[in-house]
Amino acid sequence: MLATGKQIIVLALMKRRQPLLPHDRVVDMPKRLHFWGDTTSVTYPPPTKDITTDYLIIGGGIAGLMTAYFLRRHTNAPVTLIEKNTIGSGATGYSAGMLTSEPEQASWHTLTTIYGIPLTRAYFNKQRTVMSILRRLSDKITHPESQDLLLLAQTRASHPDSRKEIHSRKQISSPVDTLNSHQVATELNSPHIQSVLRVGKHLSVNPLALAHTLARQLHKRGVCIFERTPYLDHSKNQARTPHGIIRFKHLILTRGAYEHSPLLRNFLTTIAVTTPLSNTILKRLQLHDHDMFIDDAARSFHYGKITGDNRLLVGFGDIQTETVSYPTPVYRPHVTNIKRFLKLTFPHTPLTVDQAWTAPYALTKTPIPLVKSSRGVLTINGGGTQLASAVAAEYGVSLLLKHPHPLAALFE
Ligand SMILES: Cc1cc2nc3c(=O)[nH]c(=O)nc-3n(C[C@H](O)[C@H](O)[C@H](O)COP(=O)(O)OP(=O)(O)OC[C@H]3O[C@@H](n4cnc5c(N)ncnc54)[C@H](O)[C@@H]3O)c2cc1C
Repeated sequence: MLATGKQIIVLALMKRRQPLLPHDRVVDMPKRLHFWGDTTSVTYPPPTKDITTDYLIIGGGIAGLMTAYFLRRHTNAPVTLIEKNTIGSGATGYSAGMLTSEPEQASWHTLTTIYGIPLTRAYFNKQRTVMSILRRLSDKITHPESQDLLLLAQTRASHPDSRKEIHSRKQISSPVDTLNSHQVATELNSPHIQSVLRVGKHLSVNPLALAHTLARQLHKRGVCIFERTPYLDHSKNQARTPHGIIRFKHLILTRGAYEHSPLLRNFLTTIAVTTPLSNTILKRLQLHDHDMFIDDAARSFHYGKITGDNRLLVGFGDIQTETVSYPTPVYRPHVTNIKRFLKLTFPHTPLTVDQAWTAPYALTKTPIPLVKSSRGVLTINGGGTQLASAVAAEYGVSLLLKHPHPLAALFE
């Protein structure tokens, strides 16, 4: 059985029960170890004078960038985006770069139960549309690759919960294949896996490069971008930064884990990458066809893929935290867990972890991202995945522009 509602609910409950992270177990990771590229150089320097704009977006992660993208698609009004560090320096740039429509907090079966089939199907389709947009906007450096996503499990696909999940996926037209035992043996060759669902093609990218590529294209389309420009606060229609005032008509907060809201919680998740693997080893592990995977067993939650330079990347999370400190720390117990997972999954091939990093990201307390307007300020946050965050950005823009949106009932 794979990714069933029951398992995911158990997982969500486990997350809630996790104690807050003790600060003494966090070790700073040197900046040079940022795996996906450079987060230190500034491409868009801070403003040198006060500015006036129509739309002011705070935060240069996927939510902020896609808000700017959808605004630019519908209006020529001035759009400004400010980022306290550099573009992609939050969860977006530290992520695994698995652009999947798999929901973070609940199974598709749970979503169809809560929201009904037509609305859930529209949500799924919207994520696929956003994925196509991101694929189109990607460039060579982003290294976009269409990969199968496999849901792995240590139990059988005939389990009733699994059957419900497969049925719900079919109802929302989410392609799903249950692999037979021969196929299971040829996908991720591991004695640890009992059953596998193939849930369609998803996109694997270098997430930091994707953020930079988006920023470059937005900049070309006239969006003003300023890095190293923290938003401090605002009063009426003026935002304060250390580099001057920005006057705005609409303020949009996409601050990720830095947002303090009772509607959000922060989690830490850790990624480890092995040293580059030879083609012979990739073949032996049945990983040469570059599938991405999620191992959603009730007592663990691992995700992974093969990177552009042939390393096995495995992520593990989550632990609830109040810590949002950069440079990114490495949470050692997660690394130990990942090493154990590698040994269990690939017992006959020793794999060496080369680098690891941990980063926080925000999640809403509901299965749907937070898009909330209060006192003239729009907050977009807590998508949990990049595609969900991008869908939330599209919905947020429809609110700003007072356009009807097919997912209004889902977000309200
Ligand atoms: C290790 C890890 C692995 C993940 N793997 C995946 C994955 O493979 N696939 C997937 O879909 N999702 C993944 N996620 C989740 C995904 O990355 C996040 O859900 C998503 O990127 C959140 O985007 P965001 O724009 O809301 O937040 P962020 O990317 O964190 O962006 C918020 C930005 O706001 C800036 N900011 C904050 N305060 C201010 C201020 N006062 N002024 C100016 N700027 C400010 C921050 O510096 C930051 O750059 C992963 C997350 C982590 C941490």
